[in-house]
Amino acid sequence: MRFVTFDVDSRAKVGLQEGDWVIDLARADPGIPTDMGSFVGAGPVALDRAAVVLERWTRGQLPAAVARPLAGARLRAPILEPSKIVAVGLNYMDHCRETRMDPPDQPILFAKYPSSIIGPGDTVEWDPALTTQVDYEAELAIVIGCRARRVPGAKAFDVVFGYTCGNDVTARDLQREDGQWVRGKSLDTFCPLGPALVTKDEVQHPANLDISCRVNGKTLQRSNTREMVFGIPTLIEFVTRAFTLLPGDVILTGTPHGVGFTRQPPVFLKGGDIVEVEVEGIGVLQNPCRERLPSGADESTPSSVDS
Ligand code: MG
Repeated sequence: MRFVTFDVDSRAKVGLQEGDWVIDLARADPGIPTDMGSFVGAGPVALDRAAVVLERWTRGQLPAAVARPLAGARLRAPILEPSKIVAVGLNYMDHCRETRMDPPDQPILFAKYPSSIIGPGDTVEWDPALTTQVDYEAELAIVIGCRARRVPGAKAFDVVFGYTCGNDVTARDLQREDGQWVRGKSLDTFCPLGPALVTKDEVQHPANLDISCRVNGKTLQRSNTREMVFGIPTLIEFVTRAFTLLPGDVILTGTPHGVGFTRQPPVFLKGGDIVEVEVEGIGVLQNPCRERLPSGADESTPSSVDS
């Protein structure tokens, strides 16, 4: 099944994408949690109920009002507020070669703050006075389905809920200046995710998926997840040996070759660009880009200040 988070009367709800339609799950079955975080956390029970909704929809047993056309739906990131986003650096052999780095002996983990998440169609934006080297990174994103701690590789897929597309947008200048990566990776809007969260049963071979990135229609990354240095079982075992993953947590599994800073001449994103990440069988995540000068008081509220 393919799940999306979509707006219903300005409220983010979990939807089941079926063909060109999005079914409002909680409207079809009030026993299903309304938001994706709770839905994923509810585990197999919620999935079973969603499957029943899908069957009833397919049989024409549900009123048309429970669904709306996908084309008219306002999609958000499928997961809006994970407890954490764990990202993996240098995890594609072809990316190691282009950066002239040896493949690491163990996964290189770093964090992106969840406040950087945006959804499909949302704008990646940055202050050009802060960074002028904004780069794209097409990635397969894993969404965790249950509390997970010390999970052996052989059982890793037991804790996977599904997959979506991710763009690990990176301010290369900040990444380089800081000596570690959290600032350059975590600017607001720097973690596009989506469009759909695809359950693991629909992705038979996650270690053999074509992955690509296009900027303004031009393909700049093209690879396959078989190029990963550390596969999903190793990543989940390594991560959960260190800390607990919670339902909805996201693992960004690394990017293949073709990123902008390694190109001659370098290619960085600029205002007006359209960046697309595509993962085979999962979807296409498209986002426009905008350079945005700080605007001051217009975005301030009594409880938040942005100047
Ligand atoms: Mg990355």
